[in-house]
Amino acid sequence: MLPEGGVKMEFPNTHSCEARLFEVRWPDVVRCLSCGGSDIGSVEKRFLYQCRTCRRQFSLTTETVVHRSRLDLRMWFIAAEEIISAYAESREEIRLIGHSMAKRYGISYPALHRLKKILIEDLSQQPGGGLIGACVCVRPTPLLRDPKASEEDWRDQLRSAMQ
Ligand SMILES: [Zn+2]
Repeated sequence: MLPEGGVKMEFPNTHSCEARLFEVRWPDVVRCLSCGGSDIGSVEKRFLYQCRTCRRQFSLTTETVVHRSRLDLRMWFIAAEEIISAYAESREEIRLIGHSMAKRYGISYPALHRLKKILIEDLSQQPGGGLIGACVCVRPTPLLRDPKASEEDWRDQLRSAMQ
């Protein structure tokens, strides 16, 4: 479930969002994206991790939906919360989100549309709603899906909300 006081309060800045992403992505130990090894060093100047076994370099966001995004990670979290909340209201609400968010956050509509599309794809992943879904839902018990709806129904509903 979403944080009690909302995502903006729970994650007041980019750093807190990064810390949350780290905690969700690597709950016990940082693992290499290539070989799964846990003997990881860091390349501090470039904010990278490097696997001591296979030499692979990666960052907190490598191979995630937010990798190389021009948008701040916090924006992703906030948008995810809006989509989840809108979904709880109605499908129509999700449809309307794009324009109002683009205006409120001062980003272009195409950028917002892309963000929304990626997020809906992420949030419809099971179990737990993908990486960003898991990041913003800080309280246990997923609310992403109507408990009566099957997984297929839920995906269909999200997809049709995109049209
Ligand atoms: Zn490795």
